[in-house]
Amino acid sequence: MDKTEEIFLQNQSTSEVKVVGKHKSFHGRECLSEIKRIVVKIGSTTISDDYQINEAALDGLVHDLATIKQNGIEVILVTSGAIAAGLPHLGVNSHQQTLPVLQAAAAVGQIRLMAAYEERFRFYDLCPAQLLLTQDDFSDRKRYTRMNDALHALLQLGAIPIINENDSVAVDEIKVGDNDTLSAYVTNLAQADLLILLSDQQGLFTADPRHNPDVELIHTVDVISDEIWQSAGEAGTATGTGGMVTKLRAAEIVTSSGEMMVIAYGREPLVVTRLLKGELIGTLFLPNTRISGRKRWIAYSRPPRGYIVVDNGARDALIQGGKSLLPAGIQRVEGHFNFSDTVSCFTENGVEFARGLINYNSTETTKLAGKQTQDIEKILGYHDYDEIIHRDNLVLLN
Ligand code: GLU
Repeated sequence: MDKTEEIFLQNQSTSEVKVVGKHKSFHGRECLSEIKRIVVKIGSTTISDDYQINEAALDGLVHDLATIKQNGIEVILVTSGAIAAGLPHLGVNSHQQTLPVLQAAAAVGQIRLMAAYEERFRFYDLCPAQLLLTQDDFSDRKRYTRMNDALHALLQLGAIPIINENDSVAVDEIKVGDNDTLSAYVTNLAQADLLILLSDQQGLFTADPRHNPDVELIHTVDVISDEIWQSAGEAGTATGTGGMVTKLRAAEIVTSSGEMMVIAYGREPLVVTRLLKGELIGTLFLPNTRISGRKRWIAYSRPPRGYIVVDNGARDALIQGGKSLLPAGIQRVEGHFNFSDTVSCFTENGVEFARGLINYNSTETTKLAGKQTQDIEKILGYHDYDEIIHRDNLVLLN
């Protein structure tokens, strides 16, 4: 049901809240009390200070997660902090942080991080489990399915999966790159109802609060519009790779699959428990249309390897007619991709409107662009498929 919600301005030092405007919303925070499975992501700046694990922050997080787990909610934790926890034990300074040193720091820090979690969850009689993942685990459908089996078995058996990127081996193209995106992938994989990004920021503000004193905290985002993108500031700290930009990208992935996301301040006491009770904390991103598990994988579990610009006739056939993409409708091909990679489809005006699994590689697709299906054999010397992207492998974006 349509509903108008007020936009609040929260003073970060006094926590005083005042209403600064109205925001149209289709849901209130009561939807958060229905949640059955959540992914919580904690960033390096929340979990560590000056390259040390912050014991109090970790105590607070585990107590919070144990509370909601005891209330019957399934919890998956995506944690940063391995690199931050590892660096001091290798005796390196800030000038020596080459990529191999960061890989080494992750290897040292990850076991310390997990030991800290294990000890705390054990106190609540809970069983944490470690999963270290890379982009390949999401890009490869077989690995994705196996990972899904393991994750669901852990949840069914009452364990708490704790996930991080496998930073010691994941470099270059096999790296997801930041834990905001990783946690969005995990939310999709687990089909969780909600992703909570615990950050050093109270939520999404109308501008970067580190540089602008007069900013407003946005409590609800229905649509990730251009204005919302403009409000995201610069990213990054020495040990964490996130920032508002990666958080908004995560929100796009999660909400486009039909789930919700919240950005909230990670050191707020019992922040997850309070959010799930409907308390007005942080920024809530509302869901778009729900899409199925396989289509989530096609559209949002790996970056597109290239893009295709199609003419308006082909665009209408795909969107309104539910048809496959044929060679004739293709105007232009960009990028290097192979058979079965994910490729984006753009309109003539440069708007991305679909993603799908491609039946021909980029060289073949370029040769076939604008040509008739019956000429495929003549052009390539073989004719494996009529369609460039079959409609069963195509996901329309909102
Ligand atoms: N995976 C990194 C770590 O554990 C952090 C990456 C991020 O913060 O986005 O240190």
